[in-house]
Amino acid sequence: MSRTRALTLIVLSLLGIFAAYHYNRSTMATTPKLIPTSALAKNGAIVVGSGLAGLSAASQLIAANIPVRLLERNAKPGGNSIKASSGINGAPTPFQPGPPDTEFYADTVKSTGHAMSTAREHREKLIGTLTNSSASAVTWLTTTHGIDLSKVAQLGGHSRARTHRGAGGTPPGFAIVSTLLKSLKASPLFELKTSCTVNRLLLSGASITGVEYTCSSPEAESTTSELHGPVIVTTGGFAGDDTGLLATHRPDLANFPSTNDPAPGSTHLLTSVGAQLLDMSSVQVHPTGFVDPATPLSPLKFLAAEVLRGEGGILLHDGERFFNELDTREKVTAAILKNDPVEEKPKQWDVLLVLDEGVYEAAKSHIDFYIFKGLVRKTTIGDLGDKALATISEYADVVAGKHEDKLGRTAFADWELLEPKADSIVYVGRVTPVVHFTMGGVVISEKAEVLDAQGVPIEGVWAAGEVTGGVHGGNRLGGSSLLECVVFGRNAGERVVEYIKNEGK
Ligand SMILES: Cc1cc2nc3c(=O)[nH]c(=O)nc-3n(C[C@H](O)[C@H](O)[C@H](O)COP(=O)(O)OP(=O)(O)OC[C@H]3O[C@@H](n4cnc5c(N)ncnc54)[C@H](O)[C@@H]3O)c2cc1C
Repeated sequence: MSRTRALTLIVLSLLGIFAAYHYNRSTMATTPKLIPTSALAKNGAIVVGSGLAGLSAASQLIAANIPVRLLERNAKPGGNSIKASSGINGAPTPFQPGPPDTEFYADTVKSTGHAMSTAREHREKLIGTLTNSSASAVTWLTTTHGIDLSKVAQLGGHSRARTHRGAGGTPPGFAIVSTLLKSLKASPLFELKTSCTVNRLLLSGASITGVEYTCSSPEAESTTSELHGPVIVTTGGFAGDDTGLLATHRPDLANFPSTNDPAPGSTHLLTSVGAQLLDMSSVQVHPTGFVDPATPLSPLKFLAAEVLRGEGGILLHDGERFFNELDTREKVTAAILKNDPVEEKPKQWDVLLVLDEGVYEAAKSHIDFYIFKGLVRKTTIGDLGDKALATISEYADVVAGKHEDKLGRTAFADWELLEPKADSIVYVGRVTPVVHFTMGGVVISEKAEVLDAQGVPIEGVWAAGEVTGGVHGGNRLGGSSLLECVVFGRNAGERVVEYIKNEGK
């Protein structure tokens, strides 16, 4: 070899090493370390629905370098998850005050109510998975994704403060959904298709092998196509499906207002391939949806976040407190429904949510927003009448420790008005029960496998989030829905990673 040729080879190989080093460095953050080779791994997974359950599943897959195609029927991603305003449960976490919280499992079992008398063992496994994974779910959001969840409140039905949200003004649903979406969109392995509705799952023998979906666009004719790969169904609940699933399973709730936009439920995708349904008649009617004075008869209501009662707020009917505001939603709602509705279409009750300056300061970002929307007004106790003044004075004495609450409330958080007078400032809004959340859905295992009538996993499909049933039984604890999305969404993602790595075995 001539000297010139040898020198050229040395320079070329040095350039090669230099280029490879720089290529690896510049692509390390965004591209997979391992390029999958099998067809299954190359196509990756299909996720249906872009709420928190879908985004959690997708994040888990992308973290393992598996491509994800996420199909969403709405023009914008985020589902109902983006509206979540109170927070996500976790226990024990470093953000919780006091000694380590070991009561989450027991509180959840208690909250499920009579549901525990059927399929007890199955439910215990789901609740165990939910609550035992709750601390790591919060850590995943805060440490891995950098989301602020440092403020913790005690919501109705919880024996401890364990519902986490950010200390700033951003509502938790928006903070979590937007952060996960941003991170997913940064990956070249992630593809989001909006305005695309999945019509059915594709079945080959006993296995799910993909989906058929239709995309619509205002400019072009809609197109129907297929995608192939394992499927994770995260299509949310049916609280907004008042003429469909809700009318079938709870006709008595037909005229109630709701916090969910009207849209059909999607459990049929799974029942048509053998999935079973559980708890379909267990529908959560949230005790406090705001009645907007500008549009009092609108069927779509804005949720009066649980945190308002959690931070110390009280409920008055005809000037009097009537129930422990921190009891479960089911029980608070039942207490309101004992009275006659004041409107029939939609069916509405006349309940006042009352907050003092302490509650206002603790939940300022929420309350300022409600004031801005015209749902809450700042006024004086005198404006609410003498009965209300007497009631608030009695509550203030309870908060001050002068006597026990006759309704059994023991936590008062940030309520600080201890000597109420007619001219004391309060914040008030009219609230009424609203259809809010559907506990029922398809039966899954703790690994998010979709189970058939024999309790056997249907191959090639997983499900998580509000589309599933069994985790909450008869009543969901506030903050546990976002949690189920993260826990079972990530479980589904992990199983699909295994499934793909084992080439479908
Ligand atoms: C106002 C409000 C406040 C809430 N606050 C809290 C809270 O503070 N804490 C808490 O834990 N929970 C809260 N919840 C409940 C919680 O937000 C939801 O139950 C949960 O986020 C559901 O998440 P998901 O991913 O299962 O479904 P969703 O977030 O509803 O997402 C499902 C997605 O699937 C899409 N989809 C449906 N069918 C199809 C189909 N066939 N093809 C393609 N896409 C489809 C839908 O368009 C939707 O975008 C609140 C709910 C509401 C309405």
